[in-house]
Amino acid sequence: MRTVMTKPPAPYDEIRTIIYQDELWTLREYHPALADFLQARDRLLVLRHGRPPYAVLLGVPHHAEVREDYICERRLDAEGRPAPRDADKNAASYALVAFTALRDRGVPCKLVIMAHPTTHDPNKDLASPYSRELFAEPARFLLECHGSGPHRRLALELSAGHNHLADALRFAQLLDAALGRRYTWGVQKAPGSRDAWIFHGDGHEEEEALELSALQTVTLIEAERRGMPALHLEAKPAFCKPADDVNAVSPDGLLLGRALAQALLHYLGWRDRAQGPG
Ligand SMILES: [Zn+2]
Repeated sequence: MRTVMTKPPAPYDEIRTIIYQDELWTLREYHPALADFLQARDRLLVLRHGRPPYAVLLGVPHHAEVREDYICERRLDAEGRPAPRDADKNAASYALVAFTALRDRGVPCKLVIMAHPTTHDPNKDLASPYSRELFAEPARFLLECHGSGPHRRLALELSAGHNHLADALRFAQLLDAALGRRYTWGVQKAPGSRDAWIFHGDGHEEEEALELSALQTVTLIEAERRGMPALHLEAKPAFCKPADDVNAVSPDGLLLGRALAQALLHYLGWRDRAQGPG
């Protein structure tokens, strides 16, 4: 197997980074080698296509397998008490679909998945192996993919957190069109704000606050410091967790992943080399 694993120093010494170069899929399910890593704890998966600078950088900081409710089980808060957080159940699934679609179009891209971190919150810590891997090589655009809980009001929420270089509304409109305008959306109005436009699948719009505004996310801020637009997407369980509860892609996740690839390419003004200058 070509996949390799490496080991960092304390306090991240339980994290193993995997440069994954094997097959990704067996139909809708993960290839067995990939499934093993996605169901493990403290594994950082890195998938690359082409060479840097990458057109697209995808990050999944809170992935855990579908039956896991929590991550960060061994993290302690400032008072020394356990501080677990909700797992983004199988959130890597739709990011893997997007990566596959970009790869198949020949787009240089990289996907970084932190599978079940137990000691720290990867995108709130720039020293984490996840953050270091995200920024190890240059890229044009960062999209962080999350899985929200079943009680959330909106199917999809998109925010730039504090990143001023990304146009969240424009990206949301491209993604909404690629998805066939069938879901209820929340889109951040301005960087640093919780205010959002809410778009319903039936066409009516309103204004409200985002539930998950990504204002604590340091990777989005670091991306701006490096001149990179960055967005944060929250997708409800329908996009991440198949009804049969297996670690595979759900039908909505397949649609979302493919639509993301399409929206990313439109957003970046990407033209296939075969098509010539556009
Ligand atoms: Zn998350």
